[in-house]
Amino acid sequence: MKLHEFQAKAVLSSAGIPIPDGRPALSPDEAASAAIALGLPVVVKAQVHVGGRGKAGGIKLAKTADEARSHASAILGKDIKGLRVEKLYVERAARIAKELYLGVTLDRDRRRPVVMLSTVGGMEIEEVAASDPEKIARGWPNPLLGFLPFEARALCVDADVPAAQRAGVAEIAMKLYRVYAGTDAMLAEINPLFIQEDGSLLAGDAKLELDDNALYRQADLAKLKEVGKDEEAEERARALGFSYVQLDGDVGIIGNGAGLVMGTLDAVRNAGGHAANFLDVGGGARESVVKAALEIVLSNPRVKSVLINIFGGITRGDEVAKGILAVLRDSKPRVPLVIRLSGTEAEAGRKLLEGAPLVSRATMDEAAAEAVRLAK
Ligand code: GDP
Ligand code: MN
Repeated sequence: MKLHEFQAKAVLSSAGIPIPDGRPALSPDEAASAAIALGLPVVVKAQVHVGGRGKAGGIKLAKTADEARSHASAILGKDIKGLRVEKLYVERAARIAKELYLGVTLDRDRRRPVVMLSTVGGMEIEEVAASDPEKIARGWPNPLLGFLPFEARALCVDADVPAAQRAGVAEIAMKLYRVYAGTDAMLAEINPLFIQEDGSLLAGDAKLELDDNALYRQADLAKLKEVGKDEEAEERARALGFSYVQLDGDVGIIGNGAGLVMGTLDAVRNAGGHAANFLDVGGGARESVVKAALEIVLSNPRVKSVLINIFGGITRGDEVAKGILAVLRDSKPRVPLVIRLSGTEAEAGRKLLEGAPLVSRATMDEAAAEAVRLAK
């Protein structure tokens, strides 16, 4: 789950990290009155769940209230990387001397959080990471101890933070780590972290991405969740208790068990195809869950064929067959279905499906090859 900049900044602020004064605005008039209340100049900032707003024209400096109004009307309704701007954040402009990058995320290779700091902040940190990785200093806190003061100071020295700001940046890095750990974040980032002309520090931007699996213990932040159009199906699946991840291919996949679904993704890839999703109905799925799963996969317009791969253990082949038949009864699916059914009650399931408009194959690889062929 992603937070908007203004929401993330509120979290940073309550952790003691300095942020500019700002106000959300939903209309050009609100932006103009926010500008007057905050004091000019201000920056008018699009609030969308995507980075790179600056380059896309979603961040504009205004020296007068009228300018704030006209920037607001230019940005509201704008399309930034496929997302429509519906909210703005108006902020007192910073007096920038230098822009740093500070971020905390998970380092899967080291199996630890990593705190990253760079004096080449502001621009795309991914580009810096690719072209000049040595320009990003890193520290790996022990999650049981947190990010300790000496580690934070060492990070600032490694990153060549100017001496006058070292203590301040170290303090902010420790606070950001506390936000990361305390909110169950997958990413907590301040880019840019401004060094202002007077030497003071200010979080210019804030990104906070929370782990959906931990939202149950982040009740206050979970309330901020906005379900985008492209995430509706994922939400519906979550409510039904199975995992569904949308990918960008054209073969819809349903399986029981994460391992089997991953194996099925590989089988589709080996057959020269591309999976449209990852859908795991889990163990012991009953008719209604199978029906819901199939409906969700078919609701994705990119799907050109569906591959159902069931290896019955707790899951029973006849229940799966009944779920599929329930969908076929309501309407004829717009794309071909391919099924591989084996294990518990597979025989009974195949009997139930006899005569139904779908293709049955004995092995996963044969079924995958057929699904890929039919998608083309
Ligand atoms: P992003 O492009 O989505 O990451 O949005 P940011 O909030 O990081 O803003 C992008 C760029 O806009 C920053 O790197 C700054 O150069 C500029 N910017 C943001 N806030 C201010 C500000 O208060 N004053 C000035 N002059 N520039 C700003
Ligand atoms: Mn940024």
